[in-house]
Amino acid sequence: MDSSRLCVHTITTKPWPIEVAMDKYAAAGIGGITVWRQALEGRNIAKVGDDLRARNLEIVSLCRGGFFPNKTPEGRAEAIEENRRAIREAAELGAPLVVLVCGAVPGHPLAESRKQIADGIAAVLPLAEELNVRLGIEPLHPMYADDRSAINTMASANAVCDELDHPLVGLAVDAYHVWWDPDLAAQIALTGEKNRLFAFHVCDWLTPTTDLLNDRGLMGEGCIDLKGMRALVEAAGFTGYHEVEIFSNRWWSADQDEFLARIQQAYAEHC
Ligand code: ZN
Repeated sequence: MDSSRLCVHTITTKPWPIEVAMDKYAAAGIGGITVWRQALEGRNIAKVGDDLRARNLEIVSLCRGGFFPNKTPEGRAEAIEENRRAIREAAELGAPLVVLVCGAVPGHPLAESRKQIADGIAAVLPLAEELNVRLGIEPLHPMYADDRSAINTMASANAVCDELDHPLVGLAVDAYHVWWDPDLAAQIALTGEKNRLFAFHVCDWLTPTTDLLNDRGLMGEGCIDLKGMRALVEAAGFTGYHEVEIFSNRWWSADQDEFLARIQQAYAEHC
């Protein structure tokens, strides 16, 4: 089983602290890791980066920054500072990319949120440039437009990229969030053409979905055409990792060694 282009997000095996996760992933022959910031709490970040590299795990990205919109100027300024912290952490870790879940506030007009997102990214870009860290806007499924992101389609993410027009700003494309989009193929092609296809996340959409956040499926358990989407991103020039990002109360309560083995098997069969 070739897992050299498979990357696992630390949140996927949330019960494992990063020290355990890195040993398990490396022993399984997994090529990449995306680190969630909470996995770094209380750690020496540079040392974690060294430990990952010592295990031949490529650090694909740091999750996550974003959450720029806020009803108050103080809240927006604090969000910008938090994103600067995330960019510094990525540089310390050796992650080339920070994934942005851009944010939304219930009752706050979406158009206003989108403007604050573009302004927020523009405000942190000088630091991203200085530290050479890319920023990947992850469009989120519209069911999260109330409180997690006002950027809900690839077209909307590309509009922010057009406005900022900067080589360090692109997209993180997550199958879970965009699989339903009638413009999926065209938008993936456009994103590739503009050299903005920074990351590709996979999992599956369950029917029924019983929890809006923590009921994602393992690849093959749901209805997303992952092989089709992989073909689209590769046709658009993407050569990066296939990142498994699963939030699942069901899988988190299972034996994590068994889950990791199932991830590798599902990746081989369905991706
Ligand atoms: Zn994702």
